[in-house]
Amino acid sequence: MGEVRVSLADHSYTIYIQAAGLKQVGRLMQEMPFSKKALIVTDANVSPLYAGILADSVATAGFIPHILVVEPGEGSKSLATADKVFTKAISIGLDRRSPIIALGGGVIGDLAGFVAATYLRGVPFIQVPTTLLAQVDSSVGGKTAVNHPLGKNLIGAFYQPQLVMIDPLVLDTLPERELKAGLAEVIKYGVIADAGFFDYLTRHADMILKRNPGVLAEVISRCCQLKAAVVAQDERETSVRMILNFGHTIAHAVEGVGGYSEYNHGEAVAIGMYGAALLSSSLGLCSTAASTAVQQLLAAMGLPLTAPGYGINELLGYLARDKKVVDSKVNWVLMQDIGRVTITQDVSEEQIRVVMSQLTRTN
Ligand code: ADP
Ligand code: ZN
Repeated sequence: MGEVRVSLADHSYTIYIQAAGLKQVGRLMQEMPFSKKALIVTDANVSPLYAGILADSVATAGFIPHILVVEPGEGSKSLATADKVFTKAISIGLDRRSPIIALGGGVIGDLAGFVAATYLRGVPFIQVPTTLLAQVDSSVGGKTAVNHPLGKNLIGAFYQPQLVMIDPLVLDTLPERELKAGLAEVIKYGVIADAGFFDYLTRHADMILKRNPGVLAEVISRCCQLKAAVVAQDERETSVRMILNFGHTIAHAVEGVGGYSEYNHGEAVAIGMYGAALLSSSLGLCSTAASTAVQQLLAAMGLPLTAPGYGINELLGYLARDKKVVDSKVNWVLMQDIGRVTITQDVSEEQIRVVMSQLTRTN
């Protein structure tokens, strides 16, 4: 079905988007210069659903799959869990040409990718993302990381996979809330880079929420193409890639104030995008019609727009601490229209406060 080529300076790779693609992973591995052993890293929710199918595919192709199951959830993005993966890798004798395969959501991709980047100074890495969020976001771009008790994603590396297999059928079992979280990032691509895609999403919102496999495959391919194009221009996030941060400045503040538990990442991004849209129209960068269109699509996908009751000062405190802040200036990604954004530092605290008060209003 779909293939997206990610072209990077010296490590290009292909993302396959294929119904029942889980069964094709072994065959694709045969075309690569791998040794026999492979380590599948997954979590306790995904393992009973899909690890067997993937391991069979890998074994049938002549490899020896080992499976390591970790606890589901952000808590596993830690050095302690990474250490368990290292221990497993060493004890099964994984060598420089043995692939590590991430089967799961963003947590598993980040964790297994971090281990693949550092074990023996780097072993082959394969991504089989199973959440919509991971399929459209973390599987393209090569960011891997674990968290530190003092902050998220602080320890990691840029490390590209050899291959990514996206099987849209695995989304059938994804909890509703996780599906919607992924849709926030999907909408982001329309807003930052593709008005036609934004329209497509508006017209197909119902089919997407009903998990129509053809529509989902189309949506995933488009997002991967858009992200691949951005990442190819700016592998290490120095310039263009910043547009992928649309909605994320406020999102990180909302996640922080909520202690990373009340809203998940996608929900926080939805709130952040609504905030960024409001800020864009209030600054006169885009029309009210454009910011309203963003609001309506987010609402149609069942995403939250506001974080009622959150403290404005607390949110502002988090803005200043965001990792993307350079020289204590926030780089705001703001809309000029649907499909077009600009980056500016020229936003006053007063303007931010006005938007924050809209986002935190309790009625
Ligand atoms: P994300 O991709 O959103 O960063 P996680 O890796 O934390 O997130 O995955 C979100 C949750 O969904 C986890 O509890 C994970 O075990 C579960 N999960 C992942 N993929 C699937 C799937 N295809 N079906 C059912 N549950 C899944
Ligand atoms: Zn995000």
